[in-house]
Amino acid sequence: MISKKEKFVNAITIDVEDYFQVSNFASIIPYKAWNNYKLRVVENTQKILSILDEYNTKATFFVLGWIAERIPELVKEIFEKGHEIASHGYAHQLIYDQNPYSFRMDVARSKHILEEITGSKVNGYRAPSFSITNKTRWTLKILLEEGYQYDSSIFPIQYHDRYGMPNANPFLHLIKLGEMDELIEVPLSTTKAFGRRFPIAGGGYLRLLPYTFMKWGIRRINKQGYPAIIYLHPWELDADQPRVEVDWVTRLRHYGNISKTESKLRRLLSDFKFSTIQSVIGCYTDHRLTFVDDCGFAERDALKLYYGSSSAMIAK
Ligand SMILES: [Zn+2]
Repeated sequence: MISKKEKFVNAITIDVEDYFQVSNFASIIPYKAWNNYKLRVVENTQKILSILDEYNTKATFFVLGWIAERIPELVKEIFEKGHEIASHGYAHQLIYDQNPYSFRMDVARSKHILEEITGSKVNGYRAPSFSITNKTRWTLKILLEEGYQYDSSIFPIQYHDRYGMPNANPFLHLIKLGEMDELIEVPLSTTKAFGRRFPIAGGGYLRLLPYTFMKWGIRRINKQGYPAIIYLHPWELDADQPRVEVDWVTRLRHYGNISKTESKLRRLLSDFKFSTIQSVIGCYTDHRLTFVDDCGFAERDALKLYYGSSSAMIAK
C-alpha cells in the first residue's frame, strides 16, 4: 500500500471543528446558534485518525476549545494515539473582529481546557481562518505571553478576502518580539509560480486544485530545504453533511470536490512523509519541543544556519 515516499519530513495538521462553525457560514450560523446543531465532528475526526493509522503517520490537531469542552473524550483519543494536541482558540471568531483582551481570553481559555484534558502542555496555536494578518500582528506577543511556543496562522498570500500576509516569510522561521522573546512561526505552505504565490496548503486548495500541482509544490518546497505545512478539516471528509444555503462562491469553497478529499489525502500520505509540527520544529531549529532522530536529511547544521539568517531577516 505504501508507495515510495519522499524522505523529507513535512507537517500535516487537522483543524478540529464542525461544519457549521466555519467562517464561511458565520453570517448564517452565528456562535450563539451552534448549540442547535448536531455534532458530526467525532465520526469525521475518527475517520481521519484511522486513515493516519493506516499510513503510520502522526499529525498535529488544532482543536477548537468549544469542541474540546463538549467532547473531551475525542481530545483524549487523539492524544492517546500519539498525535500532538494544539489550540484552534475557543470560539472561532476572526481575530480582526476581536480586541487584545478578548483575544487573550480566547487563547488562554482554549489552552487551559486542552491541557486539563490531556495533562500535557499545549505549544501551538492556529487562528480561525488564518486571520493573523498585518493588521493583527499584535496577537503574536499575546500568544507568547500566554505560553504558546509556536503559531501556525500566517498565510503568505495576498488575494484572499479573509486572510493573507503577502510580505511574510513563507517558510518556518523565528519571529523576534523583543530582546529575549521569540515565537516560532509555521506558515501555511505556498509556492511561487507565474510571479505570484499560490497556496498549496490543503483544505479547499487540496480539494479544488489538481493533485499533481500540490505534489509539484511540496516537492519544490522540500528541494528548497523546507518542510511543507498542510491542513485539513474533519468536515472535509464528510460528503453527507447537511447542506447550508449559501452563495455560489461559498458553496464552492466549502463543498467543492468534497467527495475527493479522502482519496487526495491518501495520495499525500503515500507520496510524502508527514509528522507533527512539534517534530518538524525539532528537525529544523534548536527549539527541541520533541526530539526527532529521523528528519529525512543529515545536514542539520546547515539548516540551523537558515534558522539564524531567517530570524535576522525578520528582525530587520
Ligand atoms: Zn477553523
